[in-house]
Amino acid sequence: PPDVEILGRSSWTLLHTIAATYPDTPSRTQQADMLRFMDLFSKLYPCWVCAEDFQSYIVKRVPKVTSRDEFGQWMCNAHNDVNRKLGKKEFDCSKWLERWKTGPKD
Ligand code: FAD
Repeated sequence: PPDVEILGRSSWTLLHTIAATYPDTPSRTQQADMLRFMDLFSKLYPCWVCAEDFQSYIVKRVPKVTSRDEFGQWMCNAHNDVNRKLGKKEFDCSKWLERWKTGPKD
């Protein structure tokens, strides 16, 4: 099976980078595509225990896809909920754009 840590780091990089490049004012189609992407991502994520949790997470907390800012904050909170579950440090979501758009600091 894939290495859960390497897979996780790469996947968060992909997810936050997708959020950071999502439009400020997405069209209806772009919003629908993003909801579909998140739904399929949660189903196909190849860490199956992770995927199971993430699937129920996005049902409970439906991704906010109305703007880049909303989506970025949603993603940051989702990542923090996983951080909490794993006993990792929480990330300051006011630094989200700086971390993922202006470029990584670590
Ligand atoms: P990561 O958590 O991978 O973070 C990478 C970088 O992102 C950090 O260095 C930091 O710069 C930045 N960052 C941290 N928090 C945030 C935030 N809130 N917002 C924005 N940027 C942030 N692992 C399991 O063992 N069990 C699980 O159930 C599980 N579920 C997962 C579900 C999903 C959808 C994903 C993508 C991953 C999941 N993982 C799970 C993997 C786990 O979240 C980590 O990716 C992995 O443990 C490696 O952690 P890390 O400490 O290298 O940093």
